[in-house]
Amino acid sequence: MMTEIKDNFDRTFKTLRVSLLNTCNLACVYCCFGNEDSKENYRSSKGQMLTADELLKLIAKLHERLDLDVVRLTGGEPLLYKQLPELVSGIRAIGINDVKLTTNGLLLENIAPALKAAGISSINVSLDAIEPEVYHLMSRRHDLSRTLKGIEAAHRLGIEVKINSVVMKGLNDSQILPLLAYAFQRKMKIRFLEIMAMGHLHGSADKHFFSQEEILSRIDTHYPASPLPRKSSSTSNYWQTADGNVFGIVANESEPFCSDCNRLRLDAYGNIYGCLSSNSPISILETDPQRLDDSLREALAQKQSIKFTGSTLSMLHIGG
Ligand code: SAM
Repeated sequence: MMTEIKDNFDRTFKTLRVSLLNTCNLACVYCCFGNEDSKENYRSSKGQMLTADELLKLIAKLHERLDLDVVRLTGGEPLLYKQLPELVSGIRAIGINDVKLTTNGLLLENIAPALKAAGISSINVSLDAIEPEVYHLMSRRHDLSRTLKGIEAAHRLGIEVKINSVVMKGLNDSQILPLLAYAFQRKMKIRFLEIMAMGHLHGSADKHFFSQEEILSRIDTHYPASPLPRKSSSTSNYWQTADGNVFGIVANESEPFCSDCNRLRLDAYGNIYGCLSSNSPISILETDPQRLDDSLREALAQKQSIKFTGSTLSMLHIGG
């Protein structure tokens, strides 16, 4: 039997996040620098992106060594990836049953039935505002109604949908209560994310930082809530309101969760990363089993011991 790859904190890799492509049909203010008219600011490419077959081979190679529990498909915008349903069913055929997706939801309405048929287990939809002007301020696009239609379509099909909202002070913190109301009416889980110092925000995220404490005190004015116990390796802290609704906060900065992080990232070019704080890609395209172990140990060593330190790499490339 092969020895498990783990570090001094007993951390292993059990969740794989795959960034399928590094292009997006939104230009959110935290991912992309610059004004909305410049496509160059949010589209980028380097080398040859992997086909679904090539990705599947790499995921199988990782699963064989790590016995993965979950694969989350992300990007860029994963719904722009042409063979997404085939990829979902392919990953399940490898033996990983829990295949999840993180998307901006813009193209979800049409593709939701195929994703359901392929066996997707849940979908996180990023939605930073419920008012059209604020949605535009955050995403630099006017597509709120398409995103909402996507959420409703997946929800109607019985797919578990969770909402993720990054909160930025002075930009969309006014949306916390309206977003909660939207999610609670539909009995959907919602999570608020503290802004992370990534990409062009590296070194300047403080200006818009809205902490877990500030989010909680805003929520407390309308929905007094009690904390729920944190599950191991979870990125979120959760609370339950008196009415039984649940919301979470991903407090990267205020309450870091590096100590039991079990996530490994694979990008669209066949590189792995052990941590969002690292922008040192480790290619596993040509690795034999021995070299794969070395690469995985190298990726594990990228994990931070205490907290996320930020990186100049935008989430667009490494996958959120
Ligand atoms: N396009 C998809 C989407 O919008 O969900 C998937 C990729 S996106 C990079 C994944 C998640 O990362 C989104 O929920 C987004 O809000 C979040 N994100 C991106 N940059 C971030 C940052 N600097 N701080 C916190 N969250 C960020």
